[in-house]
Amino acid sequence: MNKIIIAIDGHSSTGKSTLAKQLAKYLNYKYIDTGAMYRAITWYAIKNNYFEKEVLDEDKVIKNLEFINLELHHDSNLNNYILLLNGENIEKEIRGMEVSSKVSYIAKIAEVREKMVEIQQAWGNEKGIVMDGRDIGTVVFPNAELKIFMTASAEVRAQRRYDELIKKGDTVLYDDVLQNVIERDEIDSNRTIAPLKPASDAIMIDNSNLTREEQFQYVLKLVKETV
Ligand code: C5P
Repeated sequence: MNKIIIAIDGHSSTGKSTLAKQLAKYLNYKYIDTGAMYRAITWYAIKNNYFEKEVLDEDKVIKNLEFINLELHHDSNLNNYILLLNGENIEKEIRGMEVSSKVSYIAKIAEVREKMVEIQQAWGNEKGIVMDGRDIGTVVFPNAELKIFMTASAEVRAQRRYDELIKKGDTVLYDDVLQNVIERDEIDSNRTIAPLKPASDAIMIDNSNLTREEQFQYVLKLVKETV
């Protein structure tokens, strides 16, 4: 079977990563979560006090970008890739509400996006990858063989994210999660560089009323038709 690039974009908390992981596992492809990269930089910015009273000092981020090293470490036991920020596994830290509430401000910065896109293109330079994010089909891999754009109602997405956070033991309020989902989409969709929007050749999936399995089978059919 020919190997392809599968680009999965869409609104916040639409289950892009879940689908991407399922596909990568089934197809034996590499999976890259680009949201984790923007989240990692946000975590770095928080740790280094680049947010003062919730306001981001963009210059500090830009000046220090050269000290932020992102690597993919292959975990052969779990057969997946773990993102390392300056050698450290920060997976847990980047999933909480603090990072979620600030990440879209980091993702608006041109220099940050430039660096991330360069890394993503290098990581995906062999075929056989599933990459999820906001600009994969439009900017990172405009020639990807299969492009999916996922959406669902804000309430359904917030409920899913809320359940996920509660299950992990976080203390959050549903209304805060809903507000965050709406706010991130708003900022991501209206930024000047690489705004969140479907590529003209993307296949749209509204999964408000789809189970994970139904969605997976549908996309798998698309993959088989594409290769
Ligand atoms: O995918 P996830 O929800 O983890 O992404 C977190 C944030 O990172 C998004 O809300 C967006 O601001 C940013 N992002 C982006 N471009 C990508 C992936 C994520 O701007 N390719």
